[in-house]
Amino acid sequence: MVLVLAGCSTSHVKTTYADQPVPSKEPVREPVETEHVTEGPALAPPPGSTPEAFHLPTNRLVKGWIPLRKWSEDQNAGPIQRLASGTVPTFALKATNGLLIIRAYDQVAYWNSMEFHLGFAPQIVNGQPMLHVLDVAKNIEPLMHPLALPERTNRLIVIDAGHGGSNLGTKSVADGSYEKEFSLDWARRLAPILETNGWKVLLTRTGDVDMSLTNRVAFADLNKANLFISLHFNAAPSPADHDEAGIETFCVTPTGMPSTLKRDFEDDSTLVFPNNRFDVENLQYAMQVQRSLLKISGAKDHGVRRARFMTVLRGQNCPAILVEGGYMSNPREARRIADPNYRQKLAEAVAAALIEKMAAPIPPTTAENYTSPTNGAPKQ
Ligand SMILES: [Zn+2]
Repeated sequence: MVLVLAGCSTSHVKTTYADQPVPSKEPVREPVETEHVTEGPALAPPPGSTPEAFHLPTNRLVKGWIPLRKWSEDQNAGPIQRLASGTVPTFALKATNGLLIIRAYDQVAYWNSMEFHLGFAPQIVNGQPMLHVLDVAKNIEPLMHPLALPERTNRLIVIDAGHGGSNLGTKSVADGSYEKEFSLDWARRLAPILETNGWKVLLTRTGDVDMSLTNRVAFADLNKANLFISLHFNAAPSPADHDEAGIETFCVTPTGMPSTLKRDFEDDSTLVFPNNRFDVENLQYAMQVQRSLLKISGAKDHGVRRARFMTVLRGQNCPAILVEGGYMSNPREARRIADPNYRQKLAEAVAAALIEKMAAPIPPTTAENYTSPTNGAPKQ
């Protein structure tokens, strides 16, 4: 059963999600998309020592912790600096292309002041920060390398306007429009910008039609897409949360890691999805698109997050991200989203992240000018 009136709230509070399988007592089986892996041998003893190797192949379950200092020395990154930032031990690692901020016992981390989510909260051993090997391999190392866009001569993006037809998505508190209308408008504005900048562009839907999630994945497969991006708007689960606002970008959770967002779904970390082959690129695209959206829209940073239940992401055989472009349940943000000029900005922001000449690197944050993000309080 799917409640078509529900939007696509990504909040932590229980809600029904129109374009995702609704959890029920009878589990939805998708054997084609997933396989399980059994847990591999631990690569390292508990915190306090360094594992032999932490350059992991995709989709291996490993345990172990790495001293951030040792890892940064091996990478010629750093130095690491402990910041005087409140009572929670906070550390900055200065890499050539950015500044990483981690806080003890907090899964929220920052890369060039942008929020992203570790799978495991950093630990402190003998005063030194320790990171889980999966976080190093799947969250930290990808950020240390620039995103390589596909060659201009032969690259194809599938833009997926969320919802459609009887699947309305969430409803705007500003003008009563539905998410399905704005997501399609956003996709239609984005397509021509990319087309004039070296992308072949296909839309999963160009009109107000129903389309299943698995067909959206199959469409990208059929056309051998190099990138899949799903466009949505958000809604708080309760009218009482009408202040909730901001933009967030999702990619699939790496194997072995807990998800940021689970909603009511089982979050089986042993699952391996086709899209896990692209863990590195997924995060790189997600961070680049999120950064561009924040820069151009000025919206609040809701972070790059991980989810395992999103069918349009996990089955993809190419890098794939899902963007929530703001809260249609927040009166101020809903008014902006209802404005065509703002939606044009959102389109230009996504495009800017995917076009070489527009994706000029933003000067990295330095430890000297780092300030604690206003929305950076430890989260559950
Ligand atoms: Zn949605």
